[in-house]
Amino acid sequence: MKIFHNSKDLKIFIEEQKNKNLSIGFAPTMGALHQGHLSLYEKARKENDVVIGSIFVNPTQFNNTEDLKKYPRTPKKDIDLLKQSQFVDVVYLPEIQDIYPKKVISKNYNFHGLENQMEGKFRPGHFNGVGTVVEVLFRQICPDRAYFGEKDFQQFLIIQKLVEILNLPIEIIQCPILREENGLAMSSRNQRLSPTARKNAQIIYQSLTKAKDLFKNKKTSLEIKTEIKLFFEKNPLFELEYFTIADEEKLEEVSDFKNDIQYRAFIAVFTENVRLVDTIQL
Ligand code: AMP
Repeated sequence: MKIFHNSKDLKIFIEEQKNKNLSIGFAPTMGALHQGHLSLYEKARKENDVVIGSIFVNPTQFNNTEDLKKYPRTPKKDIDLLKQSQFVDVVYLPEIQDIYPKKVISKNYNFHGLENQMEGKFRPGHFNGVGTVVEVLFRQICPDRAYFGEKDFQQFLIIQKLVEILNLPIEIIQCPILREENGLAMSSRNQRLSPTARKNAQIIYQSLTKAKDLFKNKKTSLEIKTEIKLFFEKNPLFELEYFTIADEEKLEEVSDFKNDIQYRAFIAVFTENVRLVDTIQL
């Protein structure tokens, strides 16, 4: 596995692959890798000649400096994990100036309203930061396919919109959520939880499966929301930031369900000052 620490070395490598007409699969990450990340690379390995991973904790997508400071960083462990997996040919760990050659600021994007819901509402500027780093990485790596997790479903739609707006010939592929045994969605942030909180955090997925059951039983959106709020009120170790039911296309919060529309529930929860997100298709 090759390791590149700057965009110049990466550029030479990419040119060689393009000259050989090899297809490139890519998945960006912020490191502190887990099996969820590896599942993206496993899929990329099956569908491309060359697989590239990146690790970069992108400052502009954090609206909370404490969250940025505390974000787990385990580059040595990450590189070992990627090597062992044998899914990845290249790992790119750019320096800040490779992504932000001038100022560390975001571009402003118009994601047609997708950026104003949920994560965008509660983390102002988040998707401009995500768009900025992903655009730079896409332009440097020129992948044929890029892999993103369903766990960040809103981000997945935003990236689809990004390649549409920029007219980039990249196929954006969604990968299913990998969960711990108790149902908690795998996340780098789980490392920051105490063992007890990590165990108790199963209630996040439980609340989503409960919402799905209520949806199947023809409850209204308001009834489902009320039940989930109550569920968290009974669990004071968890603070519900939002629970939203929205359509899968525009991500607009729904009040009345229609028959031919696919809906999804989204949740963000704090426990021990760690912010966890999850989602389920209804
Ligand atoms: P992150 O390092 O958190 O920015 O995540 C990098 C990519 O991995 C994103 O596309 C995430 O959606 C994806 N990802 C994160 N957690 C999981 C998971 N539990 N299962 C599958 N993919 C995931």
